[in-house]
Amino acid sequence: MRISDILRVKGDEVVTVAPDADVSALLAVLAEHRIGAVVVSADGRRVDGIASERDVVRAIALRGAAVLTEPVTAIHTAQVRSVARDALVEDVERLMTERRFRHVPVVEDGVLHGVVSIGDVVKFRIDELESERRSLAGYITGERAYPA
Ligand code: AMP
Repeated sequence: MRISDILRVKGDEVVTVAPDADVSALLAVLAEHRIGAVVVSADGRRVDGIASERDVVRAIALRGAAVLTEPVTAIHTAQVRSVARDALVEDVERLMTERRFRHVPVVEDGVLHGVVSIGDVVKFRIDELESERRSLAGYITGERAYPA
């Protein structure tokens, strides 16, 4: 299955912040949307960076609360790893595990088409496994397995 299958269910909304927004504004966005990372984008379409709650925690631990008034670009990751819509879910899962990040923007022709989190991937995999389990149980018992 592909990343487009996840986006079809969760939608293509991407929360972004402008590069000149300060870190306290970033925290407000994370809290408002109950998310762990935000794409940094000057125009809302292209990826200029990604800022996660981990970046904020690390910066405050190193430099203190003064970080809150710094621009988000002072703490973000500029080299963002993105994937295309036709990327395989298992490849993206491996990428996130190996690189130790929990968010991947979906980008094609330089334009944002969504964000997938490790939570989205895990939910997708659990649903997939449950569907396979039902089919196998139906096959073994001779009962037809109906989709939930
Ligand atoms: P996360 O686990 O997604 O909260 O992020 C952990 C670290 O990886 C933070 O420093 C993020 O800025 C960075 N990060 C998150 N997602 C990506 C990505 N897709 N590409 C590159 N770095 C990322």
